[in-house]
Amino acid sequence: MSTENTSDQLFNSSVKILTDLIAFKTISGKDNNSLIDYCDEILKKLGATSFKTFDDEKKRVNLFATLKAKHPSDKKPIILSGHTDVVPVSKGWSTDPFVATIKNDKLFGRGACDMKGFIACTLAFAPIYSKANLDRDIHFSYTFDEETACIGAPILIKELKKRGVKDGICIIGEPTNMKIIDAHKGCYEYTTYFEGLAGHSSAPHKGVSAVEYASKYVNKLIELREKLKERSPKDSIFDPPHSTLSIGGIFGGIAHNVIADKCHVNWETRPVVKEDGVFLNTELDKYANEILLPDMKKVFSNSSIKKKIIGEVTGFDRDKKSNACELVSYLTGDNTREVVSFGTEAGLFQEIGISTVVCGPGSIEQAHKVDEFIVLDELKKCLSLLDGIKVQSISN
Ligand SMILES: [Zn+2]
Repeated sequence: MSTENTSDQLFNSSVKILTDLIAFKTISGKDNNSLIDYCDEILKKLGATSFKTFDDEKKRVNLFATLKAKHPSDKKPIILSGHTDVVPVSKGWSTDPFVATIKNDKLFGRGACDMKGFIACTLAFAPIYSKANLDRDIHFSYTFDEETACIGAPILIKELKKRGVKDGICIIGEPTNMKIIDAHKGCYEYTTYFEGLAGHSSAPHKGVSAVEYASKYVNKLIELREKLKERSPKDSIFDPPHSTLSIGGIFGGIAHNVIADKCHVNWETRPVVKEDGVFLNTELDKYANEILLPDMKKVFSNSSIKKKIIGEVTGFDRDKKSNACELVSYLTGDNTREVVSFGTEAGLFQEIGISTVVCGPGSIEQAHKVDEFIVLDELKKCLSLLDGIKVQSISN
């Protein structure tokens, strides 16, 4: 940064903004309009243009704001992206989770590292970008409900596609201690509901046991899990190398002597490649609709099997050549690449052709926990990355 003074100012400003952001109780699923308005106002004052995309009730909103290039060049635009929601708080915090509290070298508060710290840095740095002779657009992308299976981002991505924003470099500032993450598996969650016909256990042929059909379904899932292992890509970078599948719970039945008319199964899969997700769902739906359901309907025509998608977080694939990783490596001097076990919005940006990297301040170790914090020095590191981006985004 140009002078010691500016860098102090930037740091102080990022702490101030982070404090403001933490005070908005943007727990996933809740209204995040006031936080988004706060961000939009800061950026608008600096001359940014922006648009919002909403959920059906307009209760939750994504913001996409742009500081336009003053001297447009063929450099790819940069997208700085973060989710605005935080996970709920449980009891046991030593401080108020929605009041940023600094103790020694740490700032405590819900969202401090996951991931309002990154958003605060981008907003604190925005005035510098706005004054610079940018030769590429810098975008700010703030989404809702990432923590609940990336519900907000797909709505934004759809709009980006419509507006022709499909080329660029995206940095997703999830907490990685500023390390480069360039891949993670997908995470698909489902609940499958079975409805049969209740009856007395002494006459099983007169009822349709939802529990029994759910059991057959679970067996099919376990059988397909073995197939997923066989499909493991040779050059897989993940551990385990293949797509996984897990049954989280089976719920149904009221008594020993009553045929259960309702049962549901919670299950999830983490595909290493998208095709595995497609394969699994196709095979499973075929089994449910062509084998199980006709059998249930023989006794009770209103029987049903309904699979509900809880969330399908797209996997993030390692690119052999990634503009995003190269840029961040160049700026941080760190050439390592890591994979993680948590999901992010990265796969969604990648899917529309945007080169994407996950790299941000703070540690995932502190995310989602009681007494979540960010080490203040991490904010400084992030600001210095943003400064590097400025240097790479002005004409000589
Ligand atoms: Zn996060």
